[in-house]
Amino acid sequence: MALPSLSSHPLSRRDFIKLCAALLVTVPLARCRGGDPLDGEFEGRVLIIGAGAAGLTAGHLLAQRNVDFQILEAASIHGGRIKRANDFIDFPIPLGGEWLHVSADELDTIVNDPGVEVTTQTQAYDPGDSAGFFDGELFVGALGEYSDLKFVGATWLDFFDEYIVPSSASRTRFNTEIISVDYSGDTVVLTDSSGGVHEADRVIITVPLRVLQDEAIRFIPPLPGRKSAALAEAHAWGGMKVFIEFSEQFYPTFLAFPDSETERGQRVYYDAAYGQDSSANVLGLFSVGTAAEPYQARTGDQLRDYILAELDEVFDGAASRSYVRHIAQDWSKEPFIGQAYLFDGSDPSISRELWEPIASRVFFAGEAYTRHDDWGGVHDAARSARDTVARILN
Ligand SMILES: Cc1cc2nc3c(=O)[nH]c(=O)nc-3n(C[C@H](O)[C@H](O)[C@H](O)COP(=O)(O)OP(=O)(O)OC[C@H]3O[C@@H](n4cnc5c(N)ncnc54)[C@H](O)[C@@H]3O)c2cc1C
Repeated sequence: MALPSLSSHPLSRRDFIKLCAALLVTVPLARCRGGDPLDGEFEGRVLIIGAGAAGLTAGHLLAQRNVDFQILEAASIHGGRIKRANDFIDFPIPLGGEWLHVSADELDTIVNDPGVEVTTQTQAYDPGDSAGFFDGELFVGALGEYSDLKFVGATWLDFFDEYIVPSSASRTRFNTEIISVDYSGDTVVLTDSSGGVHEADRVIITVPLRVLQDEAIRFIPPLPGRKSAALAEAHAWGGMKVFIEFSEQFYPTFLAFPDSETERGQRVYYDAAYGQDSSANVLGLFSVGTAAEPYQARTGDQLRDYILAELDEVFDGAASRSYVRHIAQDWSKEPFIGQAYLFDGSDPSISRELWEPIASRVFFAGEAYTRHDDWGGVHDAARSARDTVARILN
């Protein structure tokens, strides 16, 4: 059955050995044998472009090592693709990243402080939960084993707001869109769209892939050939989420269709109120790639009518009868984002190349820039930032 997380897995021992092999280029072996690669030092100034999961994690880890840093964010808010709506219903709605695709221990890893107890609640699905499949006829069965976790009364952004953002809040500058990165000298000079100039010894770029592919940032000198080739080859899925309130719950925990998971996209309806302390009935729609396009082609009442017609066919008109209201988030149209995430079936060599620093001064972190064989998730963005900060500190 098609479900939102299809390629996630925790860092295995095999991955760790591979990571150590890759790190040998720059990191002493002792660190891979048990030392903490985040224990190093850096005396210079670091600028981070973007205040999404990767930028915030990088800031948090640099703050822990007393490194001088600042985050420059184009939008007026932090969070990027973990944006949340607090005013739709009586629990927070995750408009982007929603599920935790790895174990809840990952939250402690992101916090990176054994003295801090993470109390953000998550909930696993019950194998007996209902899973529907509509192929002209609706079949409903048991979900079975499904490892993704739902946040309870919280979203990824709530976790970041509580444990990660405080380290960088006073060092984040909003409404600052970086349009050029000049790394031709010993320092890196950034220019923003208002003409402001920012200088640092190291820069961490965490903007979405699409921003770099659109050449919204000019590099001086131009990006090396391998990096621009990887950028040209990388495919970022577009994506959209919709949340619909109904007066009754007529739907199963998940609802999939024959086209719910293909190489070109994914879509699934799901009970967005699952596990929440709420009596509201909220159905979520997750869609990426080509599967998102019919929804993205519509807005407002047209989108509502399209979704209700689709659901009415499955549930005998129950959707139209109990519709209350909806909200939609089209990530392909979101300023400074323009995409969902790196296509699931991407070649791992692409994200590895995208992660590689340039000239020992310009670094990359984010869901699409990673040395691991897993990408696209919030935890991947955080892991990538961790690797990047470790590289700078060492
Ligand atoms: C529909 C959808 C569903 C998803 N579901 C899940 C899920 O269930 N679980 C999961 O783990 N992940 C999920 N993800 C993926 C997850 O949200 C992302 O992987 C993660 O949030 C990316 O973080 P990031 O820091 O790499 O990038 P972003 O969050 O995009 O942060 C980049 C930041 O850079 C800023 N920026 C852009 N250009 C500039 C510029 N020129 N100058 C300054 N700042 C700039 C942006 O405004 C943004 O704040 C989903 C994503 C989408 C879109």
